[in-house]
Amino acid sequence: MTAPVILWLRRDLRLADQAALVAACAAGPVLPVYVLDDETPQHRRMGGASRWWLHHSLASMDAALRARGSRLVLRRGKSEEVLAALAAETGAEQVHALHHYEPWWRNAERAVGKRLQLHLHHGNYLAPPGSVLTGSGTPFKIYTPFWRALQQQLPPPQPLAAPAQIPASDSWPPSDRLQDWGLLPTKPDWAGGFRAEWTPGEGGALDRLEAFASRAARYADRRNLPAAEGTSRLSPHLAFGEISPATVWHAVAGAGGSTGTFLGELGWRDYAQNVILQLPAYGATSAKAEFERLPWREGAEAEADLAAWQQGRTGYPIVDAGMRQLWASGWMHNRVRMIVASFLIKHLLIDWRRGEQWFWEVLVDADYGQNAVNWQWSAGSGVDANMFVRIMAPLSQSEKFDAGEYIRAWVPELAHLPDAAIHDPPLPVRGYPAKLVGHAEGRARALAAWGALKGEK
Ligand SMILES: Cc1cc2nc3c(=O)[nH]c(=O)nc-3n(C[C@H](O)[C@H](O)[C@H](O)COP(=O)(O)OP(=O)(O)OC[C@H]3O[C@@H](n4cnc5c(N)ncnc54)[C@H](O)[C@@H]3O)c2cc1C
Repeated sequence: MTAPVILWLRRDLRLADQAALVAACAAGPVLPVYVLDDETPQHRRMGGASRWWLHHSLASMDAALRARGSRLVLRRGKSEEVLAALAAETGAEQVHALHHYEPWWRNAERAVGKRLQLHLHHGNYLAPPGSVLTGSGTPFKIYTPFWRALQQQLPPPQPLAAPAQIPASDSWPPSDRLQDWGLLPTKPDWAGGFRAEWTPGEGGALDRLEAFASRAARYADRRNLPAAEGTSRLSPHLAFGEISPATVWHAVAGAGGSTGTFLGELGWRDYAQNVILQLPAYGATSAKAEFERLPWREGAEAEADLAAWQQGRTGYPIVDAGMRQLWASGWMHNRVRMIVASFLIKHLLIDWRRGEQWFWEVLVDADYGQNAVNWQWSAGSGVDANMFVRIMAPLSQSEKFDAGEYIRAWVPELAHLPDAAIHDPPLPVRGYPAKLVGHAEGRARALAAWGALKGEK
């Protein structure tokens, strides 16, 4: 009997354009395995919303594998130990996987590589992270020159087809049962809005892509309007690797209009990996060291404000709409993510890491690099050129980006208000809270904290 080859799946739950799967198929009978590993990432274990997604994505992957004569083996534990045990059970010596760049996955890859023959392949990014370099061979710090250089490597290679048949061994090692992993919420079941919005899995990703391709040409005009269906909503599918960025690229690049702007956003996704590859602690440490001395608010009052922000009860309609959309559906429009992040960091003067952690828990597209890069960008603490003193005005942003219908959809207490009043309602409105802090007051407090930090030098 030929020994099987292990296909180690992580955030690459797809059959199409899956270089590790293609390589494994060429090497022998394939043993696809997903390891639920909460030990390696430690406090970076997947949050609740991601776990909901994972459950459905794994179910979809198993069904797709079974349709091709294979199946998904589920195991739980520390990746290198589980894979070594599986290899011992089945006689496997080789493992094929796609590269991952989160620091804990790079550690796990090193550990697996010490025990088994690990073959790592590219395919989750437009270009291999680490390959986009300055003329002198160093990695880029900021996005614009990174994107210019990345474009030299584009278009990405044509996507690989999904194998029609996947060679299987005569016998299968035992697998955990997905329903025993407890990935879905039960008491309470908070995922009703998730089910209404999303179809996790490769099929759901392709449906989203097809729907978006027909409107990609108008992306630049509509992407900042939270009430419009202007963006692709591919982010959780990309985060779980249910679709490759090359597939997205080739489906959209020829659509004309402003697709270049959209492809630049895919470039941000690559950029984020480029940053965490250089600075693995980016999710926990401000790149500008002075931010570690910023007098963030702490204590009971700040905690109460943080809770009000999380629950969408800040008294700022655009912020509350965004935070409620996030809680109900696991996703928030990008423009609104920028507004709520700025509001937490500047108006409430709460450490960006508290926001980053909340997003990690409640986003279905939670991604270590993208989340950290965007939070540090919002704070002005990152490697890019943004500044703390650039403070977004949530009320005028709401008006500028025509968020009235968006607010009506997510903040029903305000649904009766006309456009002229909905962005900044005249209080009191029954059931709706007063502002946690006035705009001018919040702004002044943030600038004073920044001034104190600067005066300290
Ligand atoms: C504070 C904050 C936190 C964020 N956290 C995450 C996160 O954890 N995971 C995540 O995928 N995105 C994150 N983003 C980026 C962005 O908001 C989402 O990728 C986007 O809203 C997803 O919607 P979409 O798929 O319709 O995007 P589209 O506009 O259709 O863009 C296509 C794809 O490009 C990528 N992309 C778009 N914008 C960005 C960006 N600013 N940075 C990096 N990649 C981008 C995404 O993969 C997205 O699916 C964050 C943004 C902010 C401001």
